[in-house]
Amino acid sequence: MRYVSTRSELASQQGVSFCAAVLEGLAPDGGLYVPKDYPKIDLPTLHRLSSLSYADLAFEVMSRWIDDIPHEDLKKLIGNTYTSEVFGSDEITPVLKLKDGLFLLRVSFGPTLAFKDIAMQWLGHLFQYILEREKRTMNILGATSGDTGSSAEYAMRGKKNINVFMLSPHQRMTPFQQAQMYSLADPNIFNIAVEGTFDSCQDMVKAVAGDQAFKRRYRLGAVNSINWARVMAQMVYYFKGYFSAVASIGSLMDVSVPTGNFGNILAAYLAKKMGLPIRRLILATNENNVLDEFYKTGKYRPRPASETFATSSPSMDISKASNFERFIFDATDRDARLMNQLWGELREHGAFDLTRPQYARVWANVKEAGFVSGSSTHQDRLDTIAALFDRYQVIIDPHTADGVKVGLNASDGKVPLICIETALPAKFETTIKDAIGQTPSRPKSYQDLESRPKHFSVLPADVDQLKAFIEKKVS
Ligand SMILES: *Cc1c(COP(=O)(O)O)cnc(C)c1O
Repeated sequence: MRYVSTRSELASQQGVSFCAAVLEGLAPDGGLYVPKDYPKIDLPTLHRLSSLSYADLAFEVMSRWIDDIPHEDLKKLIGNTYTSEVFGSDEITPVLKLKDGLFLLRVSFGPTLAFKDIAMQWLGHLFQYILEREKRTMNILGATSGDTGSSAEYAMRGKKNINVFMLSPHQRMTPFQQAQMYSLADPNIFNIAVEGTFDSCQDMVKAVAGDQAFKRRYRLGAVNSINWARVMAQMVYYFKGYFSAVASIGSLMDVSVPTGNFGNILAAYLAKKMGLPIRRLILATNENNVLDEFYKTGKYRPRPASETFATSSPSMDISKASNFERFIFDATDRDARLMNQLWGELREHGAFDLTRPQYARVWANVKEAGFVSGSSTHQDRLDTIAALFDRYQVIIDPHTADGVKVGLNASDGKVPLICIETALPAKFETTIKDAIGQTPSRPKSYQDLESRPKHFSVLPADVDQLKAFIEKKVS
């Protein structure tokens, strides 16, 4: 299986292997890596997969996208990733039936209580394996406003050959989020609290990683949501959820996905491409509704940071969804000329419009792909949390509430609806208390979190000081 960039002529590209695509992250031309073909899973195979354990199912789904890791090694890596010790049960991603035809797919029982652990834990094992094989090391540099950073740190802690330098805005995360990251004492984890905003953190990472000589010398790498290995690992739980929700293998289901960077719903789209019988891909946004607007109108207009609202589902406060380019690449029938035209319009005018005549085929493809979209408000989230607590005695987090609200609106009840639970409510106590008047219980391992010793360094928003910090710690 070769991986090609979304920005260059397909025929002219040799492509790179899976491991190379994973280590590099972004393609050299600035595009995203996508597989040259989509492997298929037919109905008899689907029947066979329906009785497998999570790890065996993950091997069956993921091995179809990888041909440069021997199968025995891959089996071991996946087996070491998806254990009941790390994810709390043998099911890994259990399904909760709320009522006939309505299910919650619970993918947030990993160490940081959000679904990102499913992909990040795998990425930790995978990085360590590839780096050992190539006898090299990597320094992961990233910026976080909360969830991604902690998920990366819990996945990389104690890993050989890997250091993590994670920037976060000083005193701007919730006490829970700060404690979750800063309580890690592993010598390969460096928490850097930057005197600035999340945007300053991101700008610093871009500046340092953009210095090619520095990047090479210090072997900088990234774990952001465009990494193909992360997208791929997320496909597995759509299969797992499907087997629990449908009455018979082969019949259809709808999925509803709280969306920010378009990584999770891209995985659902790819599972559908592989042959999983998904009818509607329901995309839920919060007040930052760029993607809802796109699927409704054909106009794609990412917003600048100044027009991005801070909401009560903060992990979806994204107005430029990085993985979206992979979907549009398919919608153009993988046409580099059209891609460059569209991304040229984005650069020049800040938007593109697929209802223009020259894009008629692209827009038709988008409409055929099965997406339905909607958005929610803060009040919708509070109401949905309260309604589910009333009806089913289940407490969901505000992101999950976005998905449930939009999902119920978009579903016609003819096929089962699976809503993805992207975080546990314990992470968002304040909003839960506003919705139902009580705080959700915390997993045992988190009960004394805020009182643990904190490990972090404070730096000004200054690129040279960040470089000096990395130099000192690495050499
Ligand atoms: C990251 C995140 C999302 C958004 O997922 P994407 O893959 O970026 O679309 C939704 N909910 C929670 C809790 C998250 O952490």
